[in-house]
Amino acid sequence: MTKNKLPTENTIRRSCFICGSTQGPVFLDRTMDVLGVGRQRMAYRACEGCGLVLQDPAVPHDTMLTYYQNYSNYTNAGRDGAPSERKTFIVEDQLKYVAGKKTVPGKAFQVGCSDGYTLSRFKAGGWQVFGCDPSASAIDIGRKQWRVEARPGDFESYVPDTGETYDLFILTHVLEHIYDPVEALRKAASMLNDDGIILVEVPLLTDPEHLIEGYFTFEHINYFSHASLTNLLQISGFSLITEIEDDYETDQYPVQRLLAQKSDRKKKPLLNDFKWSQKVLADFEVWERNQWQARLDKALARKDPEQSIVIWAGGLHTSQLFYYTEIAEQTAIEAIVDNDSQKWGKCVHGVTVISPDTYWKSHQDTPILISSRASEQEIASSLREKGVEDGKILTLYDPDPV
Ligand SMILES: [Zn+2]
Repeated sequence: MTKNKLPTENTIRRSCFICGSTQGPVFLDRTMDVLGVGRQRMAYRACEGCGLVLQDPAVPHDTMLTYYQNYSNYTNAGRDGAPSERKTFIVEDQLKYVAGKKTVPGKAFQVGCSDGYTLSRFKAGGWQVFGCDPSASAIDIGRKQWRVEARPGDFESYVPDTGETYDLFILTHVLEHIYDPVEALRKAASMLNDDGIILVEVPLLTDPEHLIEGYFTFEHINYFSHASLTNLLQISGFSLITEIEDDYETDQYPVQRLLAQKSDRKKKPLLNDFKWSQKVLADFEVWERNQWQARLDKALARKDPEQSIVIWAGGLHTSQLFYYTEIAEQTAIEAIVDNDSQKWGKCVHGVTVISPDTYWKSHQDTPILISSRASEQEIASSLREKGVEDGKILTLYDPDPV
């Protein structure tokens, strides 16, 4: 495949935020077209000094912020703002997990609180809640729908008020997005009461057989293994209280959840799993290359070869689909359909994003390729409810829907 014909886009280099090294082999070097921010180059380096896997060369911080502020789809537009069943389950589980250590609710701060749903559940559990998020529209939803207040902006530029302290920091699925997690955790520590704790959840880097296509992605700039999480907590001034690994019984990837507290314990030498993480990246790169095209071929074989398609969802999965497969050459694509109004009129790989209404009005008979892993089932059932026949719903992960 020759997909990197255009000039190399703007990237930044990152030194390892754990050990400071800039050395180590780079894998999965790719340039893909991302809705709203155009062609972006990124690659993934295994740090020779400690084994951390990080995006390097990486997408610049301001580009990432533009993406989060305008196009990040964490606001559940397709469900009228309602959380998914899985999300509801996970948040209740997090609440219980925290209650195991903090029996009396106090003040909680969530970094990257998105539409405020998580904080609304903590609030219902007796916590006083606050947070920040780069997406002003997500914060607006939080205020209106969940009565949760938060400050717009990323945590890196958050300046706390005098005396603003908390008993709990919620950092779920956020450390993998932050350019300097050490600085973020140190800031959290400085805003945390002495007996305060942090709740952390991150995708866990494991052996490739537990990872999925698209695992190394635009938005995730850090990939933590057990070793690099241990190192991160230690150099940021935390010690582990308890941890648990969970895949939530989905076909996603393993997730590490933990509670930690402030600690001034004497520092131990850093762990180094470089040999292992280098092998993970090398093996994954070979495996992934073949996976995408095979899935697409199977999905497209279920329609008439002459028929064009629409792609349902204009997120990063669609950027990856264009990058990893020959989809643009294999079939005519009439449009990309997305529930999120912020995306309408924008393009991915030259294909325009339209609203579901426009689809029902003008493309009704066109087969739909669902381009989402996490929400494939949910989108398929909502399409079936709208009366779309099974034969017109093309899925990548569940090739034979009932
Ligand atoms: Zn390192």
